[in-house]
Amino acid sequence: MTEMAPNEMAPTDLALRVRGVSKAFGAPVLSGLDLDVAAGSLVALLGPSGCGKTTLLRLVAGFERSDAGTIEVGGQLVSGPGRHVVPERRRVGIVPQEGALFPHLSVHDNVAFGLARGERRGTRPDEVLELVGLAGLGRRMPHELSGGQQQRVALARALAPKPSLVLLDEPFSALDAGLRATVRAEVRASLRAAGASAVLVTHDQQEALSVADVVAVVRDGRVVQAADPWSVYAQPADLGVATFVGETIVLPGHAADGAVTSPLGALTTESTAYGDVAVVVRPEQLEFEPADLPSVAAVVSHREFYGHDALLRLDLGGGVSATARTPGHPLPEIGATVKVGVRGPVVVFPVA
Ligand code: ATP
Repeated sequence: MTEMAPNEMAPTDLALRVRGVSKAFGAPVLSGLDLDVAAGSLVALLGPSGCGKTTLLRLVAGFERSDAGTIEVGGQLVSGPGRHVVPERRRVGIVPQEGALFPHLSVHDNVAFGLARGERRGTRPDEVLELVGLAGLGRRMPHELSGGQQQRVALARALAPKPSLVLLDEPFSALDAGLRATVRAEVRASLRAAGASAVLVTHDQQEALSVADVVAVVRDGRVVQAADPWSVYAQPADLGVATFVGETIVLPGHAADGAVTSPLGALTTESTAYGDVAVVVRPEQLEFEPADLPSVAAVVSHREFYGHDALLRLDLGGGVSATARTPGHPLPEIGATVKVGVRGPVVVFPVA
């Protein structure tokens, strides 16, 4: 029997299992990447542009061959040394960036296109259209739908053949900002209703944090951290993840036994780091004139008002500054001295 690490899932519980996958196009793009997608869950693959997210999707879908490593979909080895299962046999559904619907086919026929010939006239197209909240729109043509509805048709087409895994490649990037949040909530709900397992590629951290069960952060061709959204935000694996996922204030400090000295005063940390550290504070942890927290004096050097909130640039002395997010009203004047405290523990990373 193969031994499993305590937290590792049995391969049968996984919709996707990627181990040690490498791919180079001249220069290396993926370098020994590991990724798990538990059955029924949505994993967001988050990373900067060009880090290899789409390449990974193409390897999983079977459009490219990896140089090394293995890929299992629904417990079946689809890619590995001497093995390459063709895309149409992988049971993987794909939702591309811009829906890519056939403009000359009705909504119903676009969805039916994803099915084997024998099933196209059956009830499945209407079933999945209902699942994605588009019941009754089967006779419409794609141009008679909104951008968000078109994306849901693309999702219905991907879900129709009951795939083991759905891959969504930046599916909301073509939608305007106002529509994006609504459509991604609808797509999330449809995936849940279908009990589907999915990988969503995005470089938008808010999107990843708001819709995914697990956020997998990709850097230098590997997954550097994969965890639930709160853990990635509150317990980032390293300074790179901390600054990539969410806004940060990074300050020099010194840590010993859970106590940290910093330009923002004496802080607490759950880390056991000792010595010189980089202190990571989230802007929402800063509080002005706190009654129940130790605080330090800071001078407001810049302010930006956004309506619902505002950003204040604070001069902490000694050439150190920090940006705080604060309610938009009332705002201290530029040049005013304010008291600022930090709510909750901070994250620290030893400085090499
Ligand atoms: P984005 O968020 O901008 O879509 P990404 O993280 O999805 O980026 P990829 O599209 O996977 O990144 O590309 C990763 C790197 O691999 C890039 O440098 C890209 O130019 C290169 N690349 C991808 N496909 C090919 C190819 N077929 N031939 C040569 N280079 C490629």
